[in-house]
Amino acid sequence: MTRTRPGGTLNRRHFLAAASAALLPTPALAQAGASDVDVVIIGGGAAGIAAARRVAEAKRSYVLLEAGPRLGGRARTESAFGLKVDLGAGGFAGGDGTLGASALAAGQPLVPLPSGRRLFAEGREVRESAYDAFTATLGAARRDMLAAIEGGKDVAAAQALASAPPPAKGTPGSDGPWAATVAQFLGPLSCGRTLAALSALDLARRDARPDDTTSPFGVGALMEALGAWVNVQRDAPVTLITNGGRFHSVSVRGQRTPIRARAVVLAVPAPVLAAGAIRFNPVLPTRLVTALRAIPAGYLEQVAFRLAGNPLGLQPNETVLVKANAGAPALLRGRVHGGELHVLTFSDAAARAIAEKGAEAALPLAQAWLRANFPGAETAVSEVVASRWGQDPLIRGALSPALPGQGAQRRIFTDTVQNRIFLAGDYVPETGWGTLAGAWVSGEAAAGRALRLFGDGPA
Ligand SMILES: Cc1cc2nc3c(=O)[nH]c(=O)nc-3n(C[C@H](O)[C@H](O)[C@H](O)COP(=O)(O)OP(=O)(O)OC[C@H]3O[C@@H](n4cnc5c(N)ncnc54)[C@H](O)[C@@H]3O)c2cc1C
Repeated sequence: MTRTRPGGTLNRRHFLAAASAALLPTPALAQAGASDVDVVIIGGGAAGIAAARRVAEAKRSYVLLEAGPRLGGRARTESAFGLKVDLGAGGFAGGDGTLGASALAAGQPLVPLPSGRRLFAEGREVRESAYDAFTATLGAARRDMLAAIEGGKDVAAAQALASAPPPAKGTPGSDGPWAATVAQFLGPLSCGRTLAALSALDLARRDARPDDTTSPFGVGALMEALGAWVNVQRDAPVTLITNGGRFHSVSVRGQRTPIRARAVVLAVPAPVLAAGAIRFNPVLPTRLVTALRAIPAGYLEQVAFRLAGNPLGLQPNETVLVKANAGAPALLRGRVHGGELHVLTFSDAAARAIAEKGAEAALPLAQAWLRANFPGAETAVSEVVASRWGQDPLIRGALSPALPGQGAQRRIFTDTVQNRIFLAGDYVPETGWGTLAGAWVSGEAAAGRALRLFGDGPA
């Protein structure tokens, strides 16, 4: 049986979703008509959904407030050319944390992604020896970065590589013919910013496992399915959080009465908090605001297009990295779910242009990338569908890497705020930041800490 909070509706879709989740724990919902709950969760992305499920399992009253019309946040499955495609997280590390296990336990199908990526240069796949050279350069770059941060020092990641001592004779170094490609891969293509604008400490500590799992229906659709039975208010943007002593009051735009909560899990993106889109009374501690400003958004945008007949000769869901050249760097995911859709992920300046102008900027960028790397293929692309995360006021970027010198700031995000606010989201984990699996784990962890306020769970 499902009851909803005031303002929520129990329609047929919700009922079916709840019924299909019959094997899942019955969520402990807020009393209809009441404005007090044990936990308010703000933000319906992976972190918020995971937190809500954890609180529901503990049979505490709660509500998940999502500003937009749907759940999933930066995991969003769109329709492009009549086909489903993820224009945010398109996969995740299945063995990293609990997301994969939660999906399987909920009866959601998962499929493996091809391991590794294919490397192309000048229109064709490189030889085996070039793969070895690339891998060695990548390994050397990681070693140089670790050496540069010894003793807790932090510099720009580019500086860490530039100032690395020359490698011992016979050992590969982080320079050489693949250095620029490695720099693009580690910087813009993974973090949305160049190595010159990234903290070596933050990057070296990042230990995100490669994505090896996806959903055949889309990762965004998977998120919606995992949130299907939670007690959620959509189109409910939180505007103000007030510390009222025994409770925190959470104000939602368009709702006259604030919701009072004994604990708050705050699962909105870091750039949204840094921009002051939610007001706090009293204001957030200065050191937290400083830390949020130390991890400004990196930009990634995705561009989907159709290529019939597999002209690039790719396996389903294969990722292609090309050798750095004069054009804008991008990572290609080919033949999404085995179909005709391909997705290019652009970063940094190109991503900002796409965020600002949409398809008007995305189409020429995609065509230029194809012309430079698979000459002739560009003639088949006359229409694209593009993400615009950087323009979305509820998201404001792709992920949140630290600025040079600021890598140590991330540890602040696990501190409890005003005794009752717990931060969750992909920017929170010190090592697994910037990933869907990391966001999921951080949501569960924040909910666990909130529940301990009530004496639930281990101290
Ligand atoms: C282009 C792109 C590609 C990516 N690819 C991958 C990938 O392949 N693998 C991977 O692991 N990760 C990937 N990521 C990263 C991954 O998508 C994120 O790390 C993850 O989705 C973040 O989840 P989250 O819950 O922390 O935040 P979000 O998913 O951003 O959720 C935050 C939610 O808060 C809501 N919100 C904002 N303001 C308010 C408010 N005032 N009141 C209420 N709600 C509010 C938002 O609407 C949103 O739904 C990618 C990201 C992008 C942008």
